[in-house]
Amino acid sequence: MSRHNTILAAVDLTEEAPEVIAAAAAAAADGTLHLLTVIRPLTQAYTGVEMAGLAAAALNFEAEAEAQAKAALAALGEKVNVPASSQQVVFGVPANEIKKHAESIGADLIVVGSHGRHGLGLLLGSTANAVLHGAPCDVLTVRIRDEAP
Ligand code: AMP
Repeated sequence: MSRHNTILAAVDLTEEAPEVIAAAAAAAADGTLHLLTVIRPLTQAYTGVEMAGLAAAALNFEAEAEAQAKAALAALGEKVNVPASSQQVVFGVPANEIKKHAESIGADLIVVGSHGRHGLGLLLGSTANAVLHGAPCDVLTVRIRDEAP
């Protein structure tokens, strides 16, 4: 039996997401798999910009982003039999939310890709690195290859 019972796969819905989920599903063979996607709020992307006048547009954008993320995550979850109740889309700083969610569901393993789409030149992507620092449990980083499939 695996030593991990509750596994959280964090996916950013880029092309490496299926690879991360496949590794997490294998690790969760005897356990329960949860999926999490974090959306960065627009107010974080534009610190210093007066948001008051942009609030309505930002809310529309975020609602649309949330709907799209939920649909994309549901499609990925269906392939590995993760029920909707174990799929979560939240707003915030990805690494912080990943660690927070892992704690709240009592995860004993977090699975992330070694890199997202933007960090192939790095040894470890910034989210993966930040999750490793202060993670409440084991962390599996799935090696993402840097050549196109
Ligand atoms: P990065 O460190 O940003 O290059 O991303 C590495 C891995 O962290 C990705 O393959 C995902 O597993 C995870 N990750 C990054 N951003 C997010 C996000 N917004 N929501 C959930 N997981 C994420």
